[in-house]
Amino acid sequence: MYIQDQLQEIRAAIAAAEQRAGRPAGSVQLLAVSKTFPVQDIMHAYHDGQRDFGENRLQEAMEKMPAMPADCTWHLIGPLQRNKVRKALEQGFALIEAVDSLRLAETVSRIAGELGVTARILLEVNVDGEQSKHGFTPEGIFTDWDTLTALPHLDIRGLMCIPAPTEDPEGARPAFRALRTLAGRLRERGPLPLPELSMGMSHDFPVAVEEGATIVRVGSAIFGRRAYPNQQ
Ligand SMILES: *Cc1c(COP(=O)(O)O)cnc(C)c1O
Repeated sequence: MYIQDQLQEIRAAIAAAEQRAGRPAGSVQLLAVSKTFPVQDIMHAYHDGQRDFGENRLQEAMEKMPAMPADCTWHLIGPLQRNKVRKALEQGFALIEAVDSLRLAETVSRIAGELGVTARILLEVNVDGEQSKHGFTPEGIFTDWDTLTALPHLDIRGLMCIPAPTEDPEGARPAFRALRTLAGRLRERGPLPLPELSMGMSHDFPVAVEEGATIVRVGSAIFGRRAYPNQQ
């Protein structure tokens, strides 16, 4: 079975990268990014033991999540509009990965408070400084840090990034290293432990693991090429 073979290969590549980096085996969570793929494909991964899945669109996630066994966990990895925060929180994601502004963080905290929950989130950082991109700038996250960490209904678990695609996987290394360094500086500032670094995709996840990723988000290398280029 294609998907199961791919999964085995990716798990082996993660283990090898952990070992190269002198990191303990099992320190990286493989998030299978199932966007655009049908539940039937996701079930192949499930039957191979995969339980952690990522979707980038809320609507699509809301259709698939109820169709999958209840012991799956789901991350929302795509951009979240403020008017969809309530729906996203009600959907029960284990982690909302792409909180990309103070304004969005404030909305998530406020609505989580109304719902009586604590939202587990990552902050998205624009580490390569592209003007067009989502995310906190590294300077901006420092400016906003006291406000962010005081938000009462957020559990900020760490940082995530989506560096600009590069031909060579090594091209992403500086961005991954920058995210790790930034997390270290924020830990020093306190008061959060920030255990998670979500970085690395199909093309470059071994490099991300070498640079300290704790979550890698791998889609096409597991499920195959996506049919809809606009959902890359
Ligand atoms: C689609 C997507 C991925 C996975 O991309 P692949 O190159 O298919 O592995 C990872 N992260 C985010 C935020 C995505 O939207």
